[in-house]
Amino acid sequence: MKAFIAVDIGGTQIRVAVFPEQGTTPIQQQRIRTVAEGQTAVERMIGLIEELWPTDAEVVSIAIAAPGFLDPKAGVVVTAPNIAGWVNLPIAEIIRSHFHVPVYLGNDANLAAMGEWHFGAGRGYSDILYITVSTGIGGGLIAGGHLVEGAHGMAGELGHVMAEPGGPLCGCGKRGHLEAVASGTAIARYMAEKIAMGLPTVFAPGSTPTAKETAMAANQGDSLSIEAFNRAGFYLGRAVADFLHILNPELIIFGGGVSLSGDTILLPIRKSLEEHVISPEYLKNLTITRTVLGDDSGLLGAFALMLSKLEQA
Ligand SMILES: [Zn+2]
Repeated sequence: MKAFIAVDIGGTQIRVAVFPEQGTTPIQQQRIRTVAEGQTAVERMIGLIEELWPTDAEVVSIAIAAPGFLDPKAGVVVTAPNIAGWVNLPIAEIIRSHFHVPVYLGNDANLAAMGEWHFGAGRGYSDILYITVSTGIGGGLIAGGHLVEGAHGMAGELGHVMAEPGGPLCGCGKRGHLEAVASGTAIARYMAEKIAMGLPTVFAPGSTPTAKETAMAANQGDSLSIEAFNRAGFYLGRAVADFLHILNPELIIFGGGVSLSGDTILLPIRKSLEEHVISPEYLKNLTITRTVLGDDSGLLGAFALMLSKLEQA
């Protein structure tokens, strides 16, 4: 029997799943915290892979979904701001030399798009825009039946397009990007600022609600919370209109925690999208939906990447 090992590493947790050749149900899977006393994230990742290594199956390959800026072809993490010490880290070579099987690396949002395309909301489509809105904003593009990686694997950074010149500082260090005005972090920051200014809301003076708490308050009619989501939706819709002009996809999949707020964010996105698109033709036969794989999209995307490498071989 053949097996494939998928790894999804983030700032908070490392997940490893062992998949059989058929189906999407892992034979084994486990998650641990990324950070622990006396161990590096790489040592913890290697330890977890060793623990789950199947004894009765031949491991074909390992694929790693990682955050930050990567060079997937070289297998190098250039920078991963959420993982201490991950600068110019040749992670694929480190893992390959330990386990002696091929190792592939992919950006977590790009692989989430792959996962949705192969196993989730994107099945049967060939032109897909995947956008994840959570702490940050990430993206993945499928165009003409191929994942768009770019010359050095850095394509699809949908969160770092200009939304408001001179606006708030983005996670990348530049100002005014979409992520800085429309992510969960940006929604929470907007709320904290407006509450500090004394605007009427259900939240107590001085409180700093999360995007999730803001979504719940918006559902109950809190006007400031509704405004926070309308504002984020406006920016998201305007940016997505630009993406439609570039890519003309047939499907948009929203992932990430903010998308769980449903119509609270999707309705303002659609309104803004209709306002900013240059022709209603872009919206004809365009499906807008949410992730069906949720937290598993990165792992399943890593699995899909390994299957696609097998086909290419
Ligand atoms: Zn940015």
